Amino acid sequence: MARRIDTYLTHLVPEEKFAFYEAVRDFSDTEIAPNLLHWERDHSLVPDDCIRKMGELGLFGLPIAEQYGGQGGDHTDLVLMGLALGYHSQSVAITPGAALSLGAKPLQLCGTEAQKQAHLPALARGERMFVFGLSEPGRGSDAANPEVTAVRKGDKWVISGEKCWSTNAHWASHVVVHAMTNPSGQNGRRSTCFIVPMNQRGVFYQEMKGKKVWEQSSTGSIMFDNVEVPHEAILGTENDGFKVMVTTLNGGRLFIASLALASLAFALDKTRVYAEERIQFDDKPIGRFQRVQDVIVDMDIALDSGLTWLMHLCSLYEKNQLSREQAAKVKVECSRKASELVMLAMEVCGGVSCFDEFGLIRHHNDLFVTRVGEGSNFALKDLIVRPLRSN
Ligand SMILES: Cc1cc2nc3c(=O)[nH]c(=O)nc-3n(C[C@H](O)[C@H](O)[C@H](O)COP(=O)(O)OP(=O)(O)OC[C@H]3O[C@@H](n4cnc5c(N)ncnc54)[C@H](O)[C@@H]3O)c2cc1C
Repeated sequence: MARRIDTYLTHLVPEEKFAFYEAVRDFSDTEIAPNLLHWERDHSLVPDDCIRKMGELGLFGLPIAEQYGGQGGDHTDLVLMGLALGYHSQSVAITPGAALSLGAKPLQLCGTEAQKQAHLPALARGERMFVFGLSEPGRGSDAANPEVTAVRKGDKWVISGEKCWSTNAHWASHVVVHAMTNPSGQNGRRSTCFIVPMNQRGVFYQEMKGKKVWEQSSTGSIMFDNVEVPHEAILGTENDGFKVMVTTLNGGRLFIASLALASLAFALDKTRVYAEERIQFDDKPIGRFQRVQDVIVDMDIALDSGLTWLMHLCSLYEKNQLSREQAAKVKVECSRKASELVMLAMEVCGGVSCFDEFGLIRHHNDLFVTRVGEGSNFALKDLIVRPLRSN
């Protein structure tokens, strides 16, 4: 059976991009789907072997320029990877996804030539991984004023405090730390980003246990105990660190939208097949009930419109024309629609939905992260409403 998402993507992206999507989709079908249940029941992170294979496919270098050893792809390629891997598992998809859209991206956007030369080739080969250190135990949505501090001492900076919820921390070689450097500065101009090696003296990482979403993805807390870094570790401009983080999040939010649509695409295929096969009342498939059809049609409309919207925004992103509101809106809407509809899809499929091997419960749980991650939907609406105010 052709996947509904494939039908849409063939019309939305050029042939060579669709061929790339197909290659990642086939990898996902053969290397991820058959192992997923086992990884889930073992509560294991994405196995190193799977990460190595994704590296061999070139996924960790996807949107990194060829001059730095990457594939020279664009944000559409990244989003296609999210759709292809996320169809089975958001956890697996977010591993290269966060490594690129949150880890490598600030370096690509704001790094000096020396920093790019030093890190991008190893990141593209999958030998290094950067993590995005914005959130803290006391600073989630209110991220502009970090409690982590960096104090200048001669030609060095000393970093102290704690970052949390850092995706990929388990595999990280470096963390991009957003730290307070100028508490008396103007709001939004008080912080600086630093590239800090995870093996630097005073850096401690702990995996955050008990997470029931994105179960195969690593989520870590990272402590900084008077960590000394040179001035050259600054990424971007001193006291302009929040801008580095916020600019990075625009692309990250498009990636999160792709994960929401990937889950929706899986649920749509699962539900439309089940609705034809499941017989109740007078030997009729449940897909003949109008209410069941409603859910399936609503999923199909949401997938079609979401993909069209997302691909359009990827092209704006490539032209540097994507606004923060546009990135926020597509993330809010795709995550909200997908999570509401996947819940209804589970209701359509009934009791089987409660079991891990059916797959819907995984997507239902993972969709929650798409609502709160990279800016919670409620907080992002604060941003979206600004141009709507009359004064
Ligand atoms: C699995 C996972 C992975 C993550 N990965 C990373 C990562 O790699 N790097 C990183 O830095 N962070 C990461 N995060 C953190 C994530 O970005 C934050 O969870 C998110 O920004 C929300 O912050 P919070 O959870 O502290 O919620 P809070 O800021 O405490 O907000 C809680 C709730 O209050 C409401 N609220 C807050 N502010 C507003 C507002 N202005 N308007 C209206 N309502 C509001 C909303 O309902 C919101 O959901 C990750 C989180 C998860 C769960």
